[in-house]
Amino acid sequence: MNGETQQFDGTFTVDVEDYFQVSAFSSVISPGDWGQYDCRVEQNTRRVLDVAAECGTRGTFFVLGWVAKHYPGLVSEIQDAGHEIGGHSHWHQLVYELGPDRFRSDLQESRDTLEQIIGKPVTLYRSPSFSITEKSLWALDILIEEGFDTDSSIYPVHHDRYGIPDAPTMPHIIKTAAGAIREFRRMVYQFGRTKLPVGGAAT
Ligand SMILES: [Zn+2]
Repeated sequence: MNGETQQFDGTFTVDVEDYFQVSAFSSVISPGDWGQYDCRVEQNTRRVLDVAAECGTRGTFFVLGWVAKHYPGLVSEIQDAGHEIGGHSHWHQLVYELGPDRFRSDLQESRDTLEQIIGKPVTLYRSPSFSITEKSLWALDILIEEGFDTDSSIYPVHHDRYGIPDAPTMPHIIKTAAGAIREFRRMVYQFGRTKLPVGGAAT
């Protein structure tokens, strides 16, 4: 990795988004209506920042582009506290439902929004609801082409909406036609042949 890239601190990771933006509500709340809801993301993220400061630990915050656009000061607070900033898409749409062209434009919008705030390249990414699966692996090529060197989107578990069960559980490098990208999975607990998710739900 060259000097331009970010570090991936795996101590803890957070997806910075509001309750009405998660995939579980996507069928009843349109992104165009997000502005009508009371936002809790600022106060809740600050709580996480306070706890991290108390514990003396630093992590990676994957920030939704919509949140960054509406609350740029929050992104600066995260950065000033010494944490890494990653992208989490702009509109929180599932990658395998977007298709390559719409995925790329959404990715660019969120990346550009974050980079204007933090003043340096954003090279870390996590997809909404771990939606890089076997049917959307093309997204890795687009991530590489758009300057990302680290991804945390592939969950090595069985789930109806996400996951690649056979994916390695340890950090590894994935090589594609576009280059290479580091893959850091969410924590899993292996019980025999079964892998169980650890550390929160997909958001
Ligand atoms: Zn999310």
